[in-house]
Amino acid sequence: MNKPPIFKRLCLIGIGLIGSSIALRAKRDGLAETIVVSTRRKETMDRARELNLGDVYTDKVSEAVKNCDCIILCIPVGAYAAIGERMAEHLSPGCIISDVGSVKRSVIEQLKPHLPENVHLIPGHPIAGTEYSGPDAGFSTLFDERWCLLTPAENSDPKAIDRISSFWKALGSKVDVMGADHHDRVLAVTSHIPHLIAYNIVGTASDLEEITESEVIKFSASGFRDFTRIAASDPVMWRDVFLHNKDAVLEMLGRFSEDLSRLQRAVRWGDGDLLFEHFTKTRDIRRGIIDAGQEIDKPNFGRDVTED
Ligand code: NAP
Repeated sequence: MNKPPIFKRLCLIGIGLIGSSIALRAKRDGLAETIVVSTRRKETMDRARELNLGDVYTDKVSEAVKNCDCIILCIPVGAYAAIGERMAEHLSPGCIISDVGSVKRSVIEQLKPHLPENVHLIPGHPIAGTEYSGPDAGFSTLFDERWCLLTPAENSDPKAIDRISSFWKALGSKVDVMGADHHDRVLAVTSHIPHLIAYNIVGTASDLEEITESEVIKFSASGFRDFTRIAASDPVMWRDVFLHNKDAVLEMLGRFSEDLSRLQRAVRWGDGDLLFEHFTKTRDIRRGIIDAGQEIDKPNFGRDVTED
């Protein structure tokens, strides 16, 4: 027998890769009675309609959020304050306001001032994604076996946390709960800095005068190819991530630079022991990730999706 829907009226603000993946799975498994889709550009809305991602479509945020028991923001993290302001007066009491943004402290600071006391703000972040964007990029299995991190405030209603948590589990995710600041520091290391490094190395390689761009492309080895995939990620999304997780990124970059200098010294002075020890340690870390089921032991990671 089919389970009853978790939400009566679910509103997705933003219907790109993540929003459309939520919509597809929620539709497939009947997780919401009605799905309201809201996006600003006509072409995105038309495409969402063609793909049958929702039941109701509107570009007016004030209309979209009315009578909803759950609203999930699936937009770049730089756009939250403006959207928060536009939805504030139209929220139903008891409604869960959540999101999928890659940064969490800033999301709370942008939304909180606009929200009435009688709604539940429970931010979320699915650690799942690809380098593709837009409504066509979504697929219903994106969240399978991937973590979704929830960062509710300490005084949040446990029932609301349970409800959004069961929604993410129904989408296929494993769920963990943590503080927003902790989330931002962890993700700075595991996701944001790796993206910054990829953006940097791809830029450096194509700028090098003695190696023409065509040779970079022609002879690109697998290490560089992996970086180019990450560096193809959406520029708006990633610009906003760095603008909104500035402190944690700068803190972790400081550590990263010190460690890089240590490796640089080892290369300069021919310290093979140090390099060997370091590379052995990092290989063990990869083994740990495979053992934890977050990666499979195949070339090219066995898949073509990246994580954010
Ligand atoms: P996406 O495919 O580029 O879609 C973005 C959506 O947000 C579109 O519906 C777009 O609407 C809307 N949007 C863009 N700028 C906006 C603005 N200024 N105001 C209002 N709406 C705006 O993006 P995505 O990859 O789904 O990412 C959405 C969120 O998920 C981001 O916060 C990101 O940090 C987070 N996230 C992404 C990944 C990933 O791998 N991509 C993984 C985990 C979490 P129009 O097309 O109508 O302009």
